[in-house]
Amino acid sequence: MRKNIVAGNWKMNMEYEQGVSLFSEIVNMVKDEVIGKQEVVVCSPFIHLAAISKLSAGVSNVHIGAQNINDHESGAYTGEISAAQVKSTGAAYVILGHSERRAYYGETDELLATKVDVALKNGLKPIFCIGETKDERESGSYFDVIKTQLSKGLFHLDAAAFGNIVLAYEPVWAIGTGLTASPEQAQEVHAFIRQTLADQYGAEVADNTSILYGGSANPSNAQSLFSQPDIDGGLIGGASLKSRDFLQIINVFN
Ligand code: 13P
Repeated sequence: MRKNIVAGNWKMNMEYEQGVSLFSEIVNMVKDEVIGKQEVVVCSPFIHLAAISKLSAGVSNVHIGAQNINDHESGAYTGEISAAQVKSTGAAYVILGHSERRAYYGETDELLATKVDVALKNGLKPIFCIGETKDERESGSYFDVIKTQLSKGLFHLDAAAFGNIVLAYEPVWAIGTGLTASPEQAQEVHAFIRQTLADQYGAEVADNTSILYGGSANPSNAQSLFSQPDIDGGLIGGASLKSRDFLQIINVFN
């Protein structure tokens, strides 16, 4: 059966020492309090990966991830970071398809499909983000938008490869706005995503895929979101930068 996952996306926050100390607080709290029904993932900036990987060594339910990789394997791409480099730090995951990268860095579905392949080839599990804008929600086209993001970004994979994908539904209008999707709104889309996976890969793959919710999730709303049948955890931005808030969200599953 699928895993419950609470993942933090630190985005472009935390200088080196700050990030290391936040992560060690998280690891210490999780070690003491989490029973192990859920997986915790921290997606930090690249600069923290090697150090925090050492801090989580031996803590079996805490993993680390990056927030991006380059679509090439290696070579003359000044300033870029490859999947193999991320993997070599001890990272297990990489966020791909985040709406901030789609919007600010022009990442297309086609580029993301390549990044997914490069990640998988190098042993990184993509946390693949999909979600509609405010206009797309208001015009009612959000199901089409989500289906297109899934099929162009991921449906070239066979069922075995798809087993390494974690999905995150992040409505763009809810990210960093304090405007959370209601549990009913989120559940409606999560159920649609799972049905779309079932149509493409069959019921077993659909049932085994973790689908996280992201967008202004916090300690006050996490319980009502995560109790929905098709919401398997969260991808947490702002609230993952405070160890206590993040732990409260993790503990929803305890
Ligand atoms: P916030 O939780 O800050 O809204 O960010 C969500 C997000 O984009 C996680 O990837």
